[in-house]
Amino acid sequence: MANPPTPSRDLPEGLHPDTLAVRVAIDRSQYGENSEALYLTSGFVQPDSATSAERFASGQGYTYARTSNPTVTSFERRLAAMEGTEAAIAASSGMGAILLMIMGLLKAGDHVVISRSMFGSTLNLFSKEFAKFGVQTTQVSQTDVGEWRAAVQPNTKLLFAETPTNPLTEVCDIAALAEIAHTAGALLAVDNAFATPVLQKPAELGADIVMHSGTKYLDGQGRVMAGALCGSAQLITEKFAPIVRTAGMVLSPFNAWVVLKGLETLAVRVKAHCEHTLAVARWLEAQPQVARVYYPALPSHPQHELAMRQMNGLGGGVVTFELAAGSPEAARARAFHVIDSCRLLSIATNLGDTKTIVSHPATTSHGRLTEAQRLAAGVSQGVIRVAVGLEHPGDVQADLARGLQSLHGIA
Ligand SMILES: *Cc1c(COP(=O)(O)O)cnc(C)c1O
Repeated sequence: MANPPTPSRDLPEGLHPDTLAVRVAIDRSQYGENSEALYLTSGFVQPDSATSAERFASGQGYTYARTSNPTVTSFERRLAAMEGTEAAIAASSGMGAILLMIMGLLKAGDHVVISRSMFGSTLNLFSKEFAKFGVQTTQVSQTDVGEWRAAVQPNTKLLFAETPTNPLTEVCDIAALAEIAHTAGALLAVDNAFATPVLQKPAELGADIVMHSGTKYLDGQGRVMAGALCGSAQLITEKFAPIVRTAGMVLSPFNAWVVLKGLETLAVRVKAHCEHTLAVARWLEAQPQVARVYYPALPSHPQHELAMRQMNGLGGGVVTFELAAGSPEAARARAFHVIDSCRLLSIATNLGDTKTIVSHPATTSHGRLTEAQRLAAGVSQGVIRVAVGLEHPGDVQADLARGLQSLHGIA
């Protein structure tokens, strides 16, 4: 039974971000479905050989899913609309997106400046894996703009920043870094996985590339891995699309569909994550067993004003705290006690999920560092990260209180 095709309509100009998240990038099929279709297909049937030849030659039109797939295209168009960039390109994961960025922009002899507080796998990919191919990397302070400026060399091609960082939620000044990059004739890329376009739009602040781990808030329900780069149409089509096509870090259409649907609820979810996290952060600050709380929306955060200016007045969904403790051994025992006393929170390594996740950075994300490196990074054995989900914040607090209130006698 076939419906006559539903004519597609051009969207009105000037739509708000919440509307774009729900309405952009729906190419309806002949069935007129209201929810976006999932095109779970790797190949596309061509009407005739001449058309096939034309599509292969031009790269336009759908031929094979490593080149493009309509569901993946919808995800890319919607994310670009939400980040305010001309275009986006999807990748198999956040790390796949960073790999794509490196392969698209850098060659042996080029130099990159990154913050030493970046995501651990990002640091490894630049400073270890790509050092093998002759890409030089300098790691600088997350928060000291002067160090970024001083690290720039004649062969610097890229500055790459992440804000806020994991787990201490350190914030860097995107506009200031964009100015440094552009003065040097380099590009600025920003990892926007923690903040999402709901809190900050790096492109509006001067970033040339916005990188995403769709695994986090964009999916938002802990189901699939995904990644993306957003930027100018020229960067996406000339520098990145040819790499995905040949190197194959392509996003699966199923994962693209899950994340595409996740984008529709991103704004309401992220605002709720922020509200819940602020409640938990304030409560943690009032607990006598807690020595320090790291959360950008608390006035005690060292970059509170910059964060509020840059992040839409909200603090994000991750709060980290440090237990008052003596030796590293005692601190670890106390942190493990608090984490293991939870009956609701998940002990896992993800964030941006509806389910609150509690983790011990010193033995997970920062587990491969020496104790001295960990302390330099501020990640002592007494540090606990909470990626607050969408449960009632009172229940999250009660779960953390179980361990905090029974700490006497632990180490
Ligand atoms: C998770 C994460 C990544 C890597 O993304 P994957 O989808 O896990 O590959 C990169 N940057 C940040 C800030 C992240 O949290």
